[in-house]
Amino acid sequence: MDYNVNSEGYYGEFGGAYIPEILYGNVKNLRERYLEIMADPEFRAEFDNLLRDYVGRPTPLYYASRLSVKYGAHIYLKREDLNHTGAHKINNTIGQILLARRMGKSRIIAETGAGQHGVATATVCALKGMECIVYMGETDIARQRLNVQKMEMLGAEVRPVTSGNKTLKDATNEAIRDWCCNPSDTHYIIGSTVGPHPYPDMVARFQSVISAEIKKQLMRQEGREYPDYLMACVGGGSNCAGTFYHYLDDMRVKLVASEAAGLGVDSGETAATIHLGKRGIIHGSRTFVMQDEDGQITEPYSVSAGLDYPGIGPMHANLAVTGRTRVVAVTDEEALDAAMELTRLEGIIPAIESAHALGALGKMEFHPEEVVVLTLSGRGDKDMETFVEYFNKTRQSGS
Ligand SMILES: *Cc1c(COP(=O)(O)O)cnc(C)c1O
Repeated sequence: MDYNVNSEGYYGEFGGAYIPEILYGNVKNLRERYLEIMADPEFRAEFDNLLRDYVGRPTPLYYASRLSVKYGAHIYLKREDLNHTGAHKINNTIGQILLARRMGKSRIIAETGAGQHGVATATVCALKGMECIVYMGETDIARQRLNVQKMEMLGAEVRPVTSGNKTLKDATNEAIRDWCCNPSDTHYIIGSTVGPHPYPDMVARFQSVISAEIKKQLMRQEGREYPDYLMACVGGGSNCAGTFYHYLDDMRVKLVASEAAGLGVDSGETAATIHLGKRGIIHGSRTFVMQDEDGQITEPYSVSAGLDYPGIGPMHANLAVTGRTRVVAVTDEEALDAAMELTRLEGIIPAIESAHALGALGKMEFHPEEVVVLTLSGRGDKDMETFVEYFNKTRQSGS
């Protein structure tokens, strides 16, 4: 079976490019040029140099010995939390800013939820001296002050979005609207493996540096280039796609994706898009979408703003229906407890998104000799308020 994208932009029945006519030219131009630009040796050299000297790659593959004892397997953490700006998102924004310049664009727009992708985009725009406009829901602006301040210090304009729930989905709609009005000079840097083809494939390729490094590092550290398990969290799916990318066709490797269950898959307060499993179209792509009987998109909920998205990248929809991945739903509480556990066992405070990948460890049955690689997509600085509030509450309730 082929788990990668086909020439029409589909992963099985998922993907494609469902876009308004005014964007055809832009998306077609991108589709026709992205592979050629990414294969260009000069592009590769600039991308690789920036990943090394600016982002700080390769990120370590860290053998987590106390976590390994706890779960009875050889557990390695792929340390995307050590990247510049604190997460994997910069791998993609570096790639796309270089691509935008080669396509002659002068203006960059982006959407952001928690602000991580907005900060990563504002960062590369400062680096390359490009105009940067970030759409962000008013609700998110209120709860993510620090990231808003960072974007502004980096020279980006943060445009508040007041439609809908005033969160990520609405910010994405607004960014698409902007792109429709400014198709010729503007490149839209999408932050995950979502959107119309070629975005899911392009973002997966930029993030695939994660699995390229894992292969080399495992060879050195374990004497074989494949693990028994790969684990990652899924919001739109970019850190997970990057983690799986070079192993998609290697059936020796079991793939495990964690989605955010919020208060529980059936609670109505959840972001477990794959578990709920309704097919639809969101932001230009056919995939699983959280929606009601009338096809109206329903509001997702997760303690983690980075996983709080009512869709899922089309690659992951296909990997799930073909049975290639096991998809695990991890609740707020399970993730928060896993974050504390990693902190106390290894001295690493993870992002609340990454803690959803950690929260799946307890649901697995490993053999002691098995090798597990889990991607720690980001660091937890941005989540300190959430952690403090939760752990104060659990202490008071005596649990
Ligand atoms: C944005 C974010 C995610 C979710 O996005 P994906 O595209 O699914 O990777 C996960 N972890 C961190 C730290 C993030 O900032």
